[in-house]
Amino acid sequence: MEESNFIKTIMEKDLASGKVKEIVTRFPPEPNAYLHIGHARAMITDFELAECFNGKTNLRFDDTNPAKEDSEFVDAILKDIEWLGYHPANIFFGSDYFDQTYELAIKLIKKGLAYVCDLNQEEIAKYRGDLSHPGIDSPYRNRSVEENLKLFNEMREGKYADGEKVLRAKIDMAHPNINMRDPVLYRILHMHHHRQGDKWCIYPMYDFAHPIQDAIEGITHSCCSLEYDNHRILYDWVVEKCEMPHVPHQYEFGRLNITNTIMSKRYLRELVNSGKVTGYDDPRMPTLVGLKRRGFTASSIKDFVKSTGLSRVNSTIDGEMLDHFLREDIKLKVNRIMAVKDPLEVVIDNYEEGKIEYVVAENNAENPELGERKVAFGRHLYIEKEDFVLEKPNKHYKRLALGLEVRLYHAYFIKANSVDYDKDGNIVCVHCTYDVNTKSGSGFNERKPNGTIQFVEATTARSAIFNLFEPLVLDDEDETKSFLDRINPNSWTRMKGYVENCKEHFDELERFQFIRDGYYAVDKESKDSELVFNRIAPLKSSIK
Ligand code: ATP
Ligand code: MG
Repeated sequence: MEESNFIKTIMEKDLASGKVKEIVTRFPPEPNAYLHIGHARAMITDFELAECFNGKTNLRFDDTNPAKEDSEFVDAILKDIEWLGYHPANIFFGSDYFDQTYELAIKLIKKGLAYVCDLNQEEIAKYRGDLSHPGIDSPYRNRSVEENLKLFNEMREGKYADGEKVLRAKIDMAHPNINMRDPVLYRILHMHHHRQGDKWCIYPMYDFAHPIQDAIEGITHSCCSLEYDNHRILYDWVVEKCEMPHVPHQYEFGRLNITNTIMSKRYLRELVNSGKVTGYDDPRMPTLVGLKRRGFTASSIKDFVKSTGLSRVNSTIDGEMLDHFLREDIKLKVNRIMAVKDPLEVVIDNYEEGKIEYVVAENNAENPELGERKVAFGRHLYIEKEDFVLEKPNKHYKRLALGLEVRLYHAYFIKANSVDYDKDGNIVCVHCTYDVNTKSGSGFNERKPNGTIQFVEATTARSAIFNLFEPLVLDDEDETKSFLDRINPNSWTRMKGYVENCKEHFDELERFQFIRDGYYAVDKESKDSELVFNRIAPLKSSIK
């Protein structure tokens, strides 16, 4: 990570002062959904900052809540991390520390710093007070150590139902930070755990488990997003009162948000479960699997996230910036080929029926290293509907119209002479003539055509579906409207057309630039008999 950021500065100081010998970070995803691009900021911070100082980064699955966690998500997260090119020094599971966490809870009870409380969730919330009112002590706060040990053991043994009892830290019910008003450390959940099976029916809360895990692993800098800011005081309390031999520190950075994008796992789950999208890898989703399927490269995502910097303020970045980094990444690496999304038939009346010739085209005009290919030309062609009008509307119009001549990319000049209509009066075919002397590369420059347009030869063309995307969620003045009611009905448009027959087999995720249109990637549902392309990003930004 080249750009300096405030956590990097802290790490430099800690190494220089000898406070730490080595930088050790961790990336702690909860395996309850797929990762989204916001997680990439956390990943980049954790992995690249450690790497910057030759330190190391653990991947730790924060699987202390069995309610939503699943091994499907563990596998998906492992793949995402590999795709972004990161290599954890160790892979740990928070649940592997359950025995130690339980022992530390007992230690706190013995020190008189934790107690079993019979209040239910609502009562706990009511007793807690608020920013302007101190809380009230729980009637169970002064249970003896012996009674607490006995009850906590019974909680573990399954004597009580979910919610019947909790273990709470005994701190200060009048503390100005509400997180310090006797927070819950353990709750009862009779639920199967994806790794621990039915060994446990009590589970530690994040605020208790996380600092312990960081301390056990020797994490020096525990980085997380800003919403944990007012939990840091509790984090430090846990480390101190549990007398952990290693003392980790928590640092918070701002969350990354993107315009018209929902970036919370809960909402992403809702989108999938409600069927509003086709799955976590729907190409409109901000998940890493969705962005990957759409065609974004791992480096474009990392470049984008790094360009947003790292500070202690949440940021909302225009989604078009991601398109920019995609274009920058692949514009010199991909072949620029011709595709027609909304085809209009063209017949070259003075070209022999049945004859096909091949013209030579450079694969990427800005990168000769990508070589050349052959493009078919013949009597029957397709052009984009929007590249033809009957009459030139104004002097800025640089496409085909009756009586006008345009250049076909890599091929000849053609002139439009007449059109055929169907019974409803729609234009179905444009009759043209071509000038054999104007072949591309022949040096012909006697006339200036009215623009250059693309085409594909109709008899050799490959049929294709083009998926075009817009943001999934629309802005709405009405803030009370749920995001499920703000889904953009035009977020996925499918068009049927043709691409030039530039290769036999198109591999999944192979990327192309379609001339004058945008960058596309081959979708996982593509077949050679009917290709499917996802538009990753248009050629130009719409930001003027
Ligand atoms: P969400 O809030 O989107 O549901 P989460 O924070 O619950 O996600 P975790 O699996 O707990 O998801 O996140 C792993 C790490 O990624 C945490 O350290 C969290 O701070 C960080 N993180 C999550 N979302 C963002 C974001 N939008 N920007 C920066 N960091 C994030
Ligand atoms: Mg979380």
